[in-house]
Amino acid sequence: MTYHAGRHFLQIPGPTNVPDRVLRAMDMPTMDHRGPEFQAMAKRVLTGIRTIFQTENPVIIYPASGTGAWEAALVNTLSPGDLVLMYETGHFASLWKKLAEKLGLKTEFIAGDWRHGADSAAIGERLKKDAGHEIKAVCVVHNETSTGCVSQIGEVRKAIDAAGHPALLMVDTISSLGSLDYRHDAWGVDVTVGGSQKGLMLPPGLSFNAISNKAIEASKTASLARSYWAWDEMLAMNDKGFFPFTPATNLLYGLDAAIEMLHEEGLANVFARHQRHGAATRAAVEAWGLEVLCAEPAHHSGSLTAVLMPGETGADALRKTILERFDMSLGAGLSKLADKIFRIGHLGDFNDLTLIGTLGGVEMGLEASGVPHQKGGVDAAMAVLVSATAKEARQAAE
Ligand SMILES: *Cc1c(COP(=O)(O)O)cnc(C)c1O
Repeated sequence: MTYHAGRHFLQIPGPTNVPDRVLRAMDMPTMDHRGPEFQAMAKRVLTGIRTIFQTENPVIIYPASGTGAWEAALVNTLSPGDLVLMYETGHFASLWKKLAEKLGLKTEFIAGDWRHGADSAAIGERLKKDAGHEIKAVCVVHNETSTGCVSQIGEVRKAIDAAGHPALLMVDTISSLGSLDYRHDAWGVDVTVGGSQKGLMLPPGLSFNAISNKAIEASKTASLARSYWAWDEMLAMNDKGFFPFTPATNLLYGLDAAIEMLHEEGLANVFARHQRHGAATRAAVEAWGLEVLCAEPAHHSGSLTAVLMPGETGADALRKTILERFDMSLGAGLSKLADKIFRIGHLGDFNDLTLIGTLGGVEMGLEASGVPHQKGGVDAAMAVLVSATAKEARQAAE
């Protein structure tokens, strides 16, 4: 190992940089998870996490990566052979579909081009044709981390209602929770899946199911096999501030701090910050003469930007140069986008100057790798940030 002076720039779209305050909150001896001290913190976290999902209903917290919470959403609400309608936004939607099939569910994909969010009209059309209500759930990824495209969940809800269809709505917010506006209750979502290591600024290891009353009702008759993921025991224990098995104690202390930090900044400000960084990043990409993968401006993500590679150099060679020369990690293209794109993560504990450092690393990397581009991306991003800051200052003064 060689020492690299200064902070590593971890600009993949998750896991993200963990702020010192969260690290300090977790830096403590392991404790009795059946004792009163833990119980007081757990009660606070189990209430606090609801505000992040914008729900008044319970949120289940698993010691697991996001994939575990994907599985939990399905096994708690569905029965073998149930048909699930999923939308192909990209790599993560495809993985969720594969997982559903391994569980013994039937799946149907609405095909997508990996450059747009979900088309709610197409979902509505398909549901209207399902007069017998064979489809039991609709699954959509809110922020498709492999493409940087956001799906309009409120619109999907409206399409389901307009079709008069009773299917459950399940949404993956693993890379948008705590960075993009997301409203579990207002958008009528039945199960929201989240993870700790992206917008929540924590290390990997926690994942979530926010659940509606309708989802809880469905769980009472659903017959897919489940034990570790079962909601009923978890809900009963959580009521008292405890868990049915050993929780990830120290990560929960980190989550307690992260929730506090998100509220100190204010959720509206957190969302505005991510939107600003998305806009500034896209301005840089445009100035470089490169193309943003997400083809629909209304679907552009505030938490990451995927950039198509021009010319002969592969995206992985560019990322390698940037890692070796500037100690910055960027996200790779996944499955069919491998080597064709690179992804800039701008979510979590991240500010205007970290963005400028990040974009500076990309611009120098393009130059060092001989990738055809124009100069001035960082300048374009700075112009967006300065004008946004001036606008916010004027609004605050009014
Ligand atoms: C990261 C991610 C996942 C996978 O989560 P793991 O914690 O790696 O299991 C799933 N969906 C989306 C949208 C993601 O960004």
